[in-house]
Amino acid sequence: MRAVQVLEYGGSDRLTVTDIPRPDPGAGEVRVRLAFAGVNFIDVYMRNGMYAKNRAYGTTVPLTLGMEGAGVVDAVGDGVEGLTAGDRVAYCLSPGSYAEFAIVPAWKLVPVPDDVALEKAAALMLQGCTGHYLTHSLFPLEAGQACLIHAGAGGVGQVLIQLAKARGARVLTTVGSPKKADVAKSLGADEAILYKDVDFKQVVDDLTGGEGVHVVYESVGKDTFERSLFCLRHRGTCVLFGFSSGAVTSVNPQSLAEAGSVFMTRPNLADYMTTADEISGRAGDLFRGVSAGNLQINISDIIDLDNAATAHDALEGRATSGKLLLRMEFT
Ligand code: NDP
Repeated sequence: MRAVQVLEYGGSDRLTVTDIPRPDPGAGEVRVRLAFAGVNFIDVYMRNGMYAKNRAYGTTVPLTLGMEGAGVVDAVGDGVEGLTAGDRVAYCLSPGSYAEFAIVPAWKLVPVPDDVALEKAAALMLQGCTGHYLTHSLFPLEAGQACLIHAGAGGVGQVLIQLAKARGARVLTTVGSPKKADVAKSLGADEAILYKDVDFKQVVDDLTGGEGVHVVYESVGKDTFERSLFCLRHRGTCVLFGFSSGAVTSVNPQSLAEAGSVFMTRPNLADYMTTADEISGRAGDLFRGVSAGNLQINISDIIDLDNAATAHDALEGRATSGKLLLRMEFT
């Protein structure tokens, strides 16, 4: 089967398109014939070695990239119940989706409803479930609260805006261009701050009468983190969940005090997707939102599997707005 592998950590030029044997499912596993794979920042971190020693996502080379996909059940291993060949399924947080077939633990698979297209399902699993746990579990937003969402036109950002609005929150967001501001506003953001042009901390102060927001969903990291802390109201929460601009390598506890006795956490999606019920609960909410027309999943581009490097360049180059997918030959 065709697969995109990393043989040595490095840039997108290290992505190797190759033919490898089609794997067989073991006990409790399913072989999925993939139609689409999601492209996520975690793939970049796995490609460049940044996650080589990560507790939740540690990997060694050679590896087949990709942590998200949608397709149909192709074969099931011993002990798998309730899934048969041809069932439409989606998943995330199982490695090897940049390929025509992937082996996935059965408990990580969710059925895709008939009225949800496979590309939408592939697009919403990882970023959608992230938006879900951030707004529903980690910091369950309440009506009347205010939040700041960085990179609001990004994959996670777009879902976050919609879920936060659905919970009745006031949504301030940062974006890298006027075009991205239009995207964020069209999804319900109350404010879209062009953070390359203005000091977003000052704008948040102005917009909240100096009070600050209850929570910052912080995905940009190095370039924004310190100022994000000072966008919080007293005892607010900074959720540092990503680092698109680079890693935050140290935090001075004194900054948390000076920002107003604020809280900080650095969560992993894997710790909020620990059981089949947790996964199907989050995915089920998202699928229902898509079916009812309450949750819009924007696909930035769909690129052939063989051109995965182009997809990585676009993601790292801030050229995407929404989800990037890889397409397999699927008949
Ligand atoms: P996005 O679609 O948000 O893409 C990243 C965006 O970040 C860019 O489009 C850009 O938006 C902004 N950005 C700001 N500075 C930079 C920079 N120097 N280089 C590149 N982009 C920059 O990505 P995702 O939604 O997929 O993921 C966002 C982050 O969240 C990633 O770090 C990812 O690893 C993390 N994540 C964490 C999870 C967790 O559970 N901890 C789960 C899922 C994702 P703009 O032009 O508007 O500034």
